[in-house]
Amino acid sequence: MEYISTRNADANGISASAAILRGLASDGGLYMPREIPHISLDEIDALRALPYEERAHDILSRFLTDYDSELLLNDCREAYSAERFSRSERANSVVAGATQLAPIGDGIYSLELWHGPTCAFKDMALQIMPRLLSRALAMSDENKTAHILVATSGDTGKAALEGYRDVDRVKITVFYPSDGVSDMQKLQMTTQEGDNVNVFAVRGNFDDAQNGVKAIFSDADMAEKAAEKGYFFSSANSINWGRLAPQIVYYVSAYCDLLNSGAIKLGEKVNVAVPTGNFGNIFAAYIARTMGTPIGHLICASNSNDVLTEFINTGRYNRVREFHKTVSPSMDILISSNLERFLFTLGGSELTRDCMKRLADCGEYTVPSELLEKLRGVMSGYNLNEDETLSVIRDTFRDRGYSIDTHTAVGLGAIMKYRAESGDMTPIVLASTASPYKFAKDVCSALDVVPCSDKPADILKALSVATDTEIPAPLARTLSLKRRFTEELDPSDMPDAVLSIM
Ligand SMILES: *Cc1c(COP(=O)(O)O)cnc(C)c1O
Repeated sequence: MEYISTRNADANGISASAAILRGLASDGGLYMPREIPHISLDEIDALRALPYEERAHDILSRFLTDYDSELLLNDCREAYSAERFSRSERANSVVAGATQLAPIGDGIYSLELWHGPTCAFKDMALQIMPRLLSRALAMSDENKTAHILVATSGDTGKAALEGYRDVDRVKITVFYPSDGVSDMQKLQMTTQEGDNVNVFAVRGNFDDAQNGVKAIFSDADMAEKAAEKGYFFSSANSINWGRLAPQIVYYVSAYCDLLNSGAIKLGEKVNVAVPTGNFGNIFAAYIARTMGTPIGHLICASNSNDVLTEFINTGRYNRVREFHKTVSPSMDILISSNLERFLFTLGGSELTRDCMKRLADCGEYTVPSELLEKLRGVMSGYNLNEDETLSVIRDTFRDRGYSIDTHTAVGLGAIMKYRAESGDMTPIVLASTASPYKFAKDVCSALDVVPCSDKPADILKALSVATDTEIPAPLARTLSLKRRFTEELDPSDMPDAVLSIM
């Protein structure tokens, strides 16, 4: 299968491993398979009997056609093993392996994507992507070591560290803003284990850390110095196809789980709701739908940063707006990079190129009305403010006995709005993107739970007592680990820090 840039479909394609190695196309576009492979209902039916890791192997094989099938199966088994993704079960949820599907009433099914090592859904992709990169390196004539640089506002950094730790021919360095992450996130990153990992606090906010990393990526002198030491720079963010492809798997897999639980019959449609930031997760659901998974409507859920809701409702994408810091920080985004892939599949590469140029030059673009109509035939967008988000957490625990995190709450609130507006009561899968324990402070306040102190240990304990659920093992373990990384630096010192560890 060939991969092409969203900004130039006419150019020659490259292999999946080359696309994963490069990350971004040289024209600034994102890589997409030239055609989306099809999966038949019979093939979906056959996947029902398989555990998650084998479903992953089946779906990924259709996209990563130049990967050795047996090695890929091996990678899937390791990435989604019981050691990495806990199989602890709640009453009546379906455990596929790495994911669990919990019915929460009214035909709503919570697809729990957070049973991995960092308790957020990014593990689903970041546990396997390093293996895909490592294989791609072995298939190429590249003989240097990849140095992954990440600026993080919290979740991605930790998930990337866990995914890349001790992976062959890879080193990873994460920069987080010293006053821009939660106590729990800071603890998770500063206690990171592994021999190829580095973590630095950067004085400033997320943009300072992000700009520092971007400056290193575009600095030819840095690239040359790195090459002398046997390294090249690479990134781990969600524009890489290696991060997107693994996310397609769990939407197909959830459909199998619904069949297995008797909730639906083969061929019956289900809707999907996704709390959205960079548009990667919901785009993966769209690809699963395009492949042939019986998925009906997609619900794109946003917080007060409602740039996507406005786009879906009006056809105008306008990033020139106020940035809101919310209780669902992983969705605090003004530029949803993966939307570019959606534009490409709906409107082709010429339109995509024009829109992206306008976005860069003017901060906004508007799509033609035919395209908007197509888009709205597949997807609706809703957004929740802070009060609504916290109310959903409170109501869901009171009425359904189910505790959810702040991001998942935005998704569930969007389902309520969609159903009220459309009357469409089709069974719906809710992408549950983080454990409530990962955002325990805000979940506690939504539930009127008052921890004994502001310490992470006390907050987790209070939530555990109030909801009668267990603290996830990886978070409990973090509380007892030693801090390894305490260095704090100015953005201008980032290049020297990177050079000193190669
Ligand atoms: C990253 C993240 C999201 C947003 O996912 P996108 O793929 O960027 O749309 C939602 N919830 C949580 C908990 C996340 O970490």
